[in-house]
Amino acid sequence: MPITSYVIALGSNRRGRHGSPREELRAALGAIGGVRAVSRLRETPPLGPSRRRFANAVALVDSAEGPDALLRRLKAIERAFGRRRGQRWGARVIDLDIVLWSGGCWHTRELTIPHPHYRTRRFVLGPMAEIVPGWRDPLSGRSTLPLLHAVDRPRPRA
Ligand code: ADP
Ligand code: MG
Repeated sequence: MPITSYVIALGSNRRGRHGSPREELRAALGAIGGVRAVSRLRETPPLGPSRRRFANAVALVDSAEGPDALLRRLKAIERAFGRRRGQRWGARVIDLDIVLWSGGCWHTRELTIPHPHYRTRRFVLGPMAEIVPGWRDPLSGRSTLPLLHAVDRPRPRA
């Protein structure tokens, strides 16, 4: 398998064995490996009923793995970091989502790329604007910066 590029979104809102959410993000980046670029780590208010703040970042990662193999490894890292399943909106040491990859669209029962919600999430698009501002969404044809501007200044379509 040739080297493939992935955009991975990282989130944490609970202390773990490595420390604060920010420290968990840094440790996760080391565990993922192949990191070519990483955004600033930022804090965002919680989504949903959890009252904890999130630390978020986005990384550009090179890997020889295909999407399913990478997802399996990301899930293993989530488990190793102590993430408990069934807490969708709750406290989580680490959440690792595949946002985009250099192969375009991918869809299996376990994995959808582009990530179905990234176009509306400022905490994903903001960090992406720092490292992959021109990466085009293969579905809409819009790149990161226009998607971010659309979230920041929503306008009805003509
Ligand atoms: P969320 O990230 O939406 O808070 P989870 O991390 O618990 O929720 O993910 C739920 C499931 O979503 C995972 O088990 C995974 O198989 C699936 N999934 C589908 N597409 C993706 C993607 N692009 N990146 C990561 N997981 C995905
Ligand atoms: Mg996830």
